[in-house]
Amino acid sequence: MATPACRPETVFESATVDIQHCPDCQMIHLTMGSITIRMTEQHFSQYAQDVSKGLFELNAAPYQSGLRVMM
Ligand SMILES: [Zn+2]
Repeated sequence: MATPACRPETVFESATVDIQHCPDCQMIHLTMGSITIRMTEQHFSQYAQDVSKGLFELNAAPYQSGLRVMM
């Protein structure tokens, strides 16, 4: 839960995600729809790499879900 003092500043915004840096709690606020996840900058950095690797593995996998990411 975000603290009332949080005044996060948007770093990046898209249709699916809103990435904000919060100087108040020193965390990254990751907002997806009604869900907001807070994590440290280090955690976020690792998470971003993990998501990227997961996406790569998914696209490289022989089974295809038909779910293609437009980039
Ligand atoms: Zn905050």
